[in-house]
Amino acid sequence: MKFCPNCGAKLEEGAAACPSCGEPLPVVIPVAAADPTDHTAEFTPEDISENKVMAMLPYLLGIVGVIIAMLAHTESKYTGFHVRQYLKISVCQALVSLASTVLCWTLIVPAAGAIALLILFVIRIVCFFQICRGRAKEPAIVHRFGFLK
Ligand SMILES: [Zn+2]
Repeated sequence: MKFCPNCGAKLEEGAAACPSCGEPLPVVIPVAAADPTDHTAEFTPEDISENKVMAMLPYLLGIVGVIIAMLAHTESKYTGFHVRQYLKISVCQALVSLASTVLCWTLIVPAAGAIALLILFVIRIVCFFQICRGRAKEPAIVHRFGFLK
């Protein structure tokens, strides 16, 4: 329970002013916990709007898109960020596929691998829609792998 700093009356939680004397009360805005995987603020709005399409290319065209994006917009940090995220996801997919192939006789590994590939596929789609919205967030799960920061 909070009390008015002016008259001491009991205050409703989240009230904008004291119901007794009308003293305006400071509004407490809960600060959203900063997301360490969200790098959107590191890029300029111009960079994001100009290079959105380039950043999408790897997700649309695969490795060909990576090559085009790298050749065309090497100076864009935004494109570079998304190319790296795309490569991260691709490396994970390749490793999972390899493990599933080599350990196919275990049955468990290929079954887990199939689920992992499905998750990675969903992560790719999420990443693509993030670019559409002009965001730069590291992909879930995949960002835990330290390589290609
Ligand atoms: Zn008051």
